[in-house]
Amino acid sequence: PQSVAEKIDYVFKVVVIGDSAVGKTQILARFTKNDFCFDSKSTIGVEFQTRTLTINSKVIKAQIWDTAGQERYRAVTSAYYRGALGAMLVYDITKRQSFDHVARWVEELRAHADNSIVIMLIGNKADLVDLRAVPTEDAVEFAENQGLFFSETSALNGDNVESAFFKLLEGIYGQVS
Ligand code: GDP
Repeated sequence: PQSVAEKIDYVFKVVVIGDSAVGKTQILARFTKNDFCFDSKSTIGVEFQTRTLTINSKVIKAQIWDTAGQERYRAVTSAYYRGALGAMLVYDITKRQSFDHVARWVEELRAHADNSIVIMLIGNKADLVDLRAVPTEDAVEFAENQGLFFSETSALNGDNVESAFFKLLEGIYGQVS
């Protein structure tokens, strides 16, 4: 097929992290397959999905890794972070605890990932407006203090998922080019 002939300029590894059930798997499905699965279970066996796109006329293959439910057992290992140029750090805007844990996930990244890793903080489930427990301003402030990109997304309706990934990948491109 056509992908065989496509010249890939860069492969960017991106990891998706955050508490269990915040929507990591669905964000990944939305970005790589433009799909949402209503009865999602942990994806066992699938380590990453890819999507090839163009940034500044360069063909970039984004290789996006999912923890496949292992974050429940705190078993996310350094192998998972190895070579990652970007991270999507996801919390659920309806679950305060998932936002309170974001600082821990940043520490985890600082400990195990490359120093120059580009981090995008994602407040997911933005469609659940009536259940919001995390004000946008709290996340904006945290992201500014920590030097992270920030976006609120909905994997359910697709809002901002594409733009968040593009912002992250452009940030990575800006570092490697
Ligand atoms: P993970 O454990 O972080 O990978 O979370 P999942 O992707 O498995 O999602 C956990 C649950 O949240 C599932 O029931 C999803 O259907 C639901 N979910 C994920 N993203 C959204 C979203 O943007 N909006 C809403 N309303 N539900 C979502």
